Amino acid sequence: MKIKKLFVIVGSVLLVAISGVLLVGCSMPSYDAFTLNGWEYIALNNLGKSADEVDITKLKVSDFINLSGISNDTYLYKGGNKSENNSGWYATFIDNFDITYSENSGLNPDIWATSRHDIRHKSNKKSHPEYANYWCSEMVSVKDGKAVVRAAYDGNHTCPVCTANGYTKGRFTGGFETRAEVKNDNGGFDSNILWGQAFGYYETSIKFPDKDGMWSAFWLQGNEMRETGFDGIDGTEIDVYESAFRKNNKKVSRMGHALLWDGYGDSAKVSGHIGKLEQNLYDGNFHTFSLLWTPDCYIFFIDRICYLGNKCWRCLQSSRIFKIYK
Ligand SMILES: [Zn+2]
Repeated sequence: MKIKKLFVIVGSVLLVAISGVLLVGCSMPSYDAFTLNGWEYIALNNLGKSADEVDITKLKVSDFINLSGISNDTYLYKGGNKSENNSGWYATFIDNFDITYSENSGLNPDIWATSRHDIRHKSNKKSHPEYANYWCSEMVSVKDGKAVVRAAYDGNHTCPVCTANGYTKGRFTGGFETRAEVKNDNGGFDSNILWGQAFGYYETSIKFPDKDGMWSAFWLQGNEMRETGFDGIDGTEIDVYESAFRKNNKKVSRMGHALLWDGYGDSAKVSGHIGKLEQNLYDGNFHTFSLLWTPDCYIFFIDRICYLGNKCWRCLQSSRIFKIYK
């Protein structure tokens, strides 16, 4: 019996590549990593204006980059003509989830794989083993032009894979990735990268459940992120958003953005920011989270606006890149 049924709904995912290096007219100003960095100069150059002529506290995606003329239709670039717009931008991958496939939870199996079945963590209360958390592909589905990720307690879970693992009672959720994990001969898993891209503009639209305790994320990850050394150039997790902050918070919306490299635990290095937001993320509407990733910086947007001040983490000097395996 399901006693709780909660959703994270992904409306669409838009990924756009830049064909060349960002062209800028004036030199890069000095900046701090987190609080007052000078990456707004990219927008000012693009607009051909000075900081006095625009409100740099609320620069929009369109102030930084020109995506006009790029279709929003579901699309996958497979080589050949790139259909660049006037600024050299072109779509590489757009998924509006408007096609429901008969396999892979309804997701396009050429691009997506559901996160593999596993136990996320065991219950830390012996008297309540059902507090354990599990990944299950059946918690992901495609419906009405949306990818739906459910999180629910299930006391009679009947998924055949979970049942075979002995996971029939607990908290179940899922995820989907552009990586398929494939069991190898050593009992571990190999990563089969279905699709990957370093640099560009990455965007998703999400509707969050209006419930405490829910946690979702839109993130980029590389195979070598867990290895130490190389200061993350060999792989850095980029959390475009992470929403683990909805609990007893009097309806204040918070959002986290982060970079993580050199693995997790003792070796881990992290730069991140959790900020209070002006907008209500739990108003039942879709909200858009995006990242502009250039070889020089990361710029994060919420609802396509980059709030300067203390509302949103903008960017960080870095040239960390993913290794892409295809
Ligand atoms: Zn399952």
